[in-house]
Amino acid sequence: MKHRPSIWAQLRQALHRRPELSGHEHETANTITQFLTQLQPDTLLTGLGGTGVAATFNGQQAGEHWLFRCELDALPITETNAFAHRSEHTGVSHKCGHDGHMAIICGLASRLAEDRSFAGRRTVLFQPAEETGAGALAVVADPRFKAMAVDRCYALHNLPGIPLGEVQIKAGTFNCASVGLAITLHGESAHAAHPEQGRSPAPAMTELLRQFLSINTSLPNDEINMISVVYSRLGNRGFGTIPATAEIGLTLRTEHNTSMQKLKQTTLNLAQDCAQQHGLGLETAWHDEFLASVNDETCTKQVAEAAESMGHTVTWLDQPMRWSKDFGAISAAAKGAMFVLGAGLEIPQIHDAAYDFPDALIEPAMGIFKQIAYQTG
Ligand SMILES: [Zn+2]
Ligand SMILES: [Zn+2]
Repeated sequence: MKHRPSIWAQLRQALHRRPELSGHEHETANTITQFLTQLQPDTLLTGLGGTGVAATFNGQQAGEHWLFRCELDALPITETNAFAHRSEHTGVSHKCGHDGHMAIICGLASRLAEDRSFAGRRTVLFQPAEETGAGALAVVADPRFKAMAVDRCYALHNLPGIPLGEVQIKAGTFNCASVGLAITLHGESAHAAHPEQGRSPAPAMTELLRQFLSINTSLPNDEINMISVVYSRLGNRGFGTIPATAEIGLTLRTEHNTSMQKLKQTTLNLAQDCAQQHGLGLETAWHDEFLASVNDETCTKQVAEAAESMGHTVTWLDQPMRWSKDFGAISAAAKGAMFVLGAGLEIPQIHDAAYDFPDALIEPAMGIFKQIAYQTG
């Protein structure tokens, strides 16, 4: 007889079938809202920071307000899997496991609804647009979030390449701060037969690329501080014209939010000096900004102890994860902890077209959150 997936695995697979991009998670938010409505929470908020949904359950005794966060969005990746629950939306799929994270938090919500023996209030938050970094910032900026007066917040992210169910955590910076910078250099085009009549940005672009590709060794190395060149473009395909514009895309990454301010300034100065020396116009734009996600000491210990008591292996990291997670915006508003949960050694990495969240991880992950939710502050 074929093994029947649990109701949580079925929910996860249903969400997997109907993925939506960051900021456009309307149907997903509706599905979640319907699920939460039948649990009869004390408060149900929709349209939080865009498409976000939050349900609050009041406990039997007074106490703190704790929040558990997951994400609604999928990625602009075409799924290569052929299984029955494959994405029905061409070019969009859940390749970060947010479908799994949602199923975990739905399971937690269901338990909170039926057993109110906790102290204080517990909120489950389904936030939009995690992949762009815009969602958590928008949720935090929503006045209804501030009114919730959250004391603590918790989140996890699954990670392939780590044994299934292993918890990795550290106090202090857990995920780095990062931001994208689009640099555009403006010169003047000319006929390719008379390059001297134009002002090609090619030499300046080459100079900047060389600088940015070698800059990491000269940045302060007492913490993570790095620049990655992510794209570049010069002119258009064609053989008769000297280009007028060049573009370079960079991603800046640091361990602390304060060091990010310095690295941003260093980068801008290099671009400005170069543009000036070459007599070019300069345009810069920041994109996809993520704050460092900083774990509070008490909340971190709480996660580790809860995981250990549920039989999970807990590994303490000495370096933060280089990836950025926008949970940093939420844990800047209330003390909190984010941790990584191993998704198994043999599965494709997140953001890989063949990735699929392992259903076997749903209930163990739910167990950790349930264990935390019924503790007192
Ligand atoms: Zn992702
Ligand atoms: Zn993710």
